[in-house]
Amino acid sequence: MAVQTSVHIDEPVTVIPGIGPVRARYLSQLGVDTVGDLLLLQPRRYLNHRRVAHLGALRPGDRIMVSGRIDSVRTRSTQRRRTWLHEATLMLEGCCLLLVWFLPTPDQARLPVQRGAYVTVAGTVSRCPRGLQIVHPLFPPDNGREEFIIPVYPLVNGLHQNQMRKWTSAALNNTIPPAETIPDDIRRQRQLIPLTNALRWLHYPHEPDQVTQARRRLAYEELLSAVIALELRKRTRRRSVSPCGDDGPQSRAFLSSLPFELTEGQRAAIADIRTDMQADRTMYRLVHGDVGAGKTVVAMFAAVKAVENGRQVAFLVPTRLLAEQHYARWKEALTQAGVRVDILLGDRNDDRVKQRAASGEVDMLIGTHALLNADFARLGLLIVDEQQRFGVEQRAHLAMRWPVHSLYLSATPIPRSLASILWQDLDVSVIPAPPAGRSRVITRWLRPEKREQLYTSLRNQISAGRQAYIVFPRIGTEATIDEADRPSPDQKHNLSAVTAYKKLTTGALTDLRVGLVHGQMPAEKQEEVMSAFQKGKIDVLVCTTVVEVGVDVPNATVMIIEGAEMFGLAQLHQLRGRVGRGQYQSYCIAVASPTTPLAAQRLRTFCNTQDGFKIAEQDMLLRGPGELLGQRQSGYGEFKFADFPADLDLMKSVVDDARVLLQKDPNLQSAENAALRERLLARYPSCLEKRGGG
Ligand code: ADP
Ligand code: MG
Repeated sequence: MAVQTSVHIDEPVTVIPGIGPVRARYLSQLGVDTVGDLLLLQPRRYLNHRRVAHLGALRPGDRIMVSGRIDSVRTRSTQRRRTWLHEATLMLEGCCLLLVWFLPTPDQARLPVQRGAYVTVAGTVSRCPRGLQIVHPLFPPDNGREEFIIPVYPLVNGLHQNQMRKWTSAALNNTIPPAETIPDDIRRQRQLIPLTNALRWLHYPHEPDQVTQARRRLAYEELLSAVIALELRKRTRRRSVSPCGDDGPQSRAFLSSLPFELTEGQRAAIADIRTDMQADRTMYRLVHGDVGAGKTVVAMFAAVKAVENGRQVAFLVPTRLLAEQHYARWKEALTQAGVRVDILLGDRNDDRVKQRAASGEVDMLIGTHALLNADFARLGLLIVDEQQRFGVEQRAHLAMRWPVHSLYLSATPIPRSLASILWQDLDVSVIPAPPAGRSRVITRWLRPEKREQLYTSLRNQISAGRQAYIVFPRIGTEATIDEADRPSPDQKHNLSAVTAYKKLTTGALTDLRVGLVHGQMPAEKQEEVMSAFQKGKIDVLVCTTVVEVGVDVPNATVMIIEGAEMFGLAQLHQLRGRVGRGQYQSYCIAVASPTTPLAAQRLRTFCNTQDGFKIAEQDMLLRGPGELLGQRQSGYGEFKFADFPADLDLMKSVVDDARVLLQKDPNLQSAENAALRERLLARYPSCLEKRGGG
C-alpha cells in the first residue's frame, strides 16, 4: 500500500479510510473528532507479547510472539452459515501451534499466511481440542525485537479494538508530522522527546519505557499550555476602571461595627482588596482560607467599599441555604453601613428584586445562580462564595459577562502545588489561621456498635445548651423507606436521613427537638428548618450534605457523620468545619465500619489531622486529585495526560519554564513559538483573542 502523507491533524477523522459518518459519531463519543484527537487518544493499557524461542512450555493465557514455518493449512465449514474455519499449523523445533481464522470464505488464498511460508505471529495462546492455538493472530513488524506491544483503546458500543488499531496506525502513517510545540531549549533541558516520537510511541511503543516518555512529554505540553493560557488570561482580564477612593465613613463604620477583632490574616486580605479596588484595573482576587477562617467578613468589607464608591454588588453563593444565611446574618450590619441589600433565590419574588437591581434602587444582591440572569444599573463588584463549587469554566464565563472587580472565596483545601496551576490567573490572599480562641475540634472514629454511648454524650451537650448535626450519606426517598425499615440480616444501621429521622424521633432522641433537612425538601421548608436551627429552636439537625458548605451556626458543637466511610476526606473536613465555629469545645464523630484498608486509613488521617492542606495532600495521595476535587471543581477534565500527584514535579518545571518563556516572548510571536501559539489558541481560544492577532 502506497503511503500518502497528506492528511493534516486538524482534518476530521473521516479522512481516514474506513471511518464514515457513523463511526465518526461513535468516535466523537470518545472525544475524537479530528485526526489529531485520534493521535492523542490515550490507550487504556497495552498488551505486551514476548518472543518465545520454542513452543514447549506454552500455557493458555500466555501472550507471545513467535516465528516459525507454516506446515499445513486446513479449511472446514462451521455450524454458522457462511463462516469457514481455517487452521494453519506453525512448526517450530518439532512442536506445533495452531493459527486459527474464521472467515466468510473457504478460499485459502485469502489467509494472511500460505503453506511453506516463514512467519512471525503474535497473540494470546488458548487451548483447543487439538492442542494450543492463537485465534486471529497479529503480524508484528519484522524488526527482530523481543517484545511486541499493542494498544488497548477505550471503546464505545459500535467500535472494535482492531479497527481502532488500524485507524491509529493509518493516522500515524498518513499525517503530515505536526510542528514541534515545545521550544528546543526547554525540550533539551527537561529531556522531553519530540512530538512526533511521542505520538508514535504513545500507540506503538517498542518497549514500555517509551510509553512513559511519550506520556511525560504530552503531559508537559498540556500543562505548559494551561499555565500559559491562565497567565495570558490574567493579563487580558484586567480592564480599566475608575479607582475607588480611600475608606470613607461607610467602610470605616462597617469595620468598627464588627463584634470581634479581625485576625491578622483577615486584615491582610482586607488590605489587599483595598489596594486592588483603589487601583485603576479590575481586581481578580481569591481569598483562600480553611473552613471557619472567617472569609465572609472580608468579602462584606469589599461590598461596603464598592457601594460607598457608587457601585452595586452581586454576591453569588452555591446554595439557597447559604444565601439565606448570609442575608440573615449580615443584613443589619450592611444596612447600618448604608448598603441596601436584597436576596435573589430564583423564586416568585425574583421579578421585583431584579427590577430593583436594574433600576439601581438596591445596592447589593445576595443570591444563587438566579443572580446570573439579573441586570444591574451599575455593577462594580462580583463576589463568589465557595468558588470551588462553580468550577474553572464558570469562572471564565462570569468574568466575561461582568468585567468588574471579582472576589472569590474558597476553602478548597488543595495542595499548594496544585493551587498554583488552578489559580494561576488569580491573585491570592491567604487567611492562614482561624480566629483566636477556637479550640481544635476533637475528632473520633466510632464503630456503629457503640452508637448508643454516642447519644449519651450528645445529650450532655444539648443539656449544656449546645446543638448538634447528624449527617447521613443518603436522603432515603419515600420509595426506599419500607425496604430500608425491614431489618437487614446484618443489622446494618440505616444510612438515610429520612429513615433515621423517623427512628430517632420515636426512639433514642424522642424527648429532644429534632429537625430534618435535605436537598429534596421544598426550598421554603429547608429554610424554615435551617432558620429554626440557627435560632436555637432545634437541638439536633438530622441532615444530608446540604449543610456541607458555608453553614455557620456557632452554637453547634457536635457533628456526627454516619456512614463516614462513604465520604471523601475533603468532604469530611468540610463537614467538620460546621462545628468549632464559636467559643465552645466541639466534637466530630465519624461513625463508620470501613471495609477496606484504604477507607480505614482515610478515617485515621481525618482524626489525626485538622489542617485542610495536610488533609488535601493525604487525600490526593490516597485517591488522586480527580476524586479529591470532583470533576466539576477541578478543571482536570482538560488534562488527558497530566496525572497528579505523579506529575507534581513536572508541573513545577512547567511553571518555571512558562515564566521564562513569557518573559522572552510575551505574546508568543516568535517563529519558534508559532506552533505552541497555535495549539494554545485551539485549546484556550479566549486567552489570546483580545490581543488583535499578536
Ligand atoms: P468561612 O471562612 O468558613 O466562610 P465564616 O466567614 O463563616 O468562615 O466565619 C466563621 C465564623 O467565625 C463566623 O461565625 C464568623 O462570625 C466568625 N468570625 C469571623 N471572623 C472572626 C474573628 N476575627 N473573630 C472571631 N470570630 C470571627
Ligand atoms: Mg464561608
